[in-house]
Amino acid sequence: MSETLFSKIISREIPADIVYEDEHLLGFRDVNPQAPVHVLFIPKKAMATLNDAEDGDAELLGRLLLAAGTFAKAEGFAEAGYRTVINCNADGGQSVYHLHVHLLAGRSLSWPPG
Ligand code: AMP
Repeated sequence: MSETLFSKIISREIPADIVYEDEHLLGFRDVNPQAPVHVLFIPKKAMATLNDAEDGDAELLGRLLLAAGTFAKAEGFAEAGYRTVINCNADGGQSVYHLHVHLLAGRSLSWPPG
């Protein structure tokens, strides 16, 4: 997979406000937040979209959601609520082609999304 903004954040070539890191994942604040809390969780193993995930990635996909939920509990907004989103390809509104989970919180979020 070619380099993306997010692979450059993983390699620290470009800065980010990193809030979570483990062996498999990185979490950092979105530069253009859509809610008071807007964090992106990404796998260190690059895959462009959710379409590229395979059976062998099941654990990694689970880790992304677990990290988001753990962060929500640690930051104290889990009970109030939050939203996780994965945008896929053009119709899904994806702009960076390195799989990521958006975690949005800190305000009441409307549904359906635009
Ligand atoms: P998506 O549209 O689902 O691909 O989401 C990509 C997200 O990455 C957008 O919400 C952008 O604001 C965010 N983003 C783009 N560049 C950066 C960056 N350098 N650091 C943090 N977030 C970024």
